[in-house]
Amino acid sequence: MAKRDYYEILGVNRNASETEIKKAYRKLAVQCHPDKNPGDKEAEERFKELSEAYAVLSDAQKRALYDQYGHAGVEQGGGFSSGGFGGTPFEDLFGDIFGDIFGAGGRSRRGRRGDDLRYNLTISFEEAAFGLETKIQVPRHQSCSHCHGSGAKPGTSPQTCGSCRGSGQVRFQQGFFSLTRPCPTCNGEGKIIKDPCPECRGTGLTRSKKTLSLKIPAGVENGNRLKLSGEGEAGAHGAPPGDLYVVISVSDHPIFRREGQDVICEVPISFPQAALGCEIDVPTLDGKVRLKIPAGTQGGKILKLAGKGIPVLQGYGRGDQLVVVRVETPTQLTARQKELLEEFAREAGAEIHPLGKGFFDKVKEMFG
Ligand SMILES: [Zn+2]
Ligand SMILES: [Zn+2]
Repeated sequence: MAKRDYYEILGVNRNASETEIKKAYRKLAVQCHPDKNPGDKEAEERFKELSEAYAVLSDAQKRALYDQYGHAGVEQGGGFSSGGFGGTPFEDLFGDIFGDIFGAGGRSRRGRRGDDLRYNLTISFEEAAFGLETKIQVPRHQSCSHCHGSGAKPGTSPQTCGSCRGSGQVRFQQGFFSLTRPCPTCNGEGKIIKDPCPECRGTGLTRSKKTLSLKIPAGVENGNRLKLSGEGEAGAHGAPPGDLYVVISVSDHPIFRREGQDVICEVPISFPQAALGCEIDVPTLDGKVRLKIPAGTQGGKILKLAGKGIPVLQGYGRGDQLVVVRVETPTQLTARQKELLEEFAREAGAEIHPLGKGFFDKVKEMFG
């Protein structure tokens, strides 16, 4: 995919001032900031794109190169790895721009919020319709209870890294540019643990399974997500945890199908039942319901059982159940059954087959 123009990304024109660029960036960055759009990949991509555009256009030297040579001018030696979210230039910008908006230090590497987690939960058709309360076991990292997440052996504490003096970042020179990268001595943590906690080996995190009670509301659909704030991975060294997203998949039902709030169910009846009319038991989400099939019902006819459908998610009322009548042709007839049907066929005139009569009348009109 072709890279978008940096000015276009920021929505400014080519002679925009530094202040205009900064203002445009701030405005857009707040909109698509990952903290405001958790789990939204598109917002994350836009935010990355935006940060990259800003990193270039806010730097007079890089901007001049970009103006002259386009993307090629800033890509070589520009230090922009498209690698991950949270690369060095990205973190750098964060400190400058977001310190005041999102709380100082909130996005430094040390204080990084825990990752969001996804949990796939498969439920039955009926459970989706009426909701359920269940417990799930989510494997995740939790703050180590032994060292309270510090990573240091109890009784000791982490020491400030001498190489970066606790900032977690070191500057280096690349071509024209002075860039920063995570401090290799402390891996960007800003602190060094001399005596690691034996339980978590200095990470401050332990892996465990947490049991969570979950209330799935009535009316959920395949693909619906439930967000459990703060139930994701623990943040490193005491930072806030991520969120947990429970993604619902609903199993197919052997006889029901869902369309919006309605339940569709095909019911086979015999030809004599369709011709003579009958009463049959139809399965619904609430158990069996007696349904009257009027005499002369054609195959494909849809009969409605009002209010027997799916409850509206976080709303009021229910859909309907739509019973699709299938008239079944008998198979493997005995000699006697054949005889009876042949006798019936001789007896049956066009008048008692209105669909066929209508159809063949039209055919006659066509061919004269
Ligand atoms: Zn520990
Ligand atoms: Zn360091």
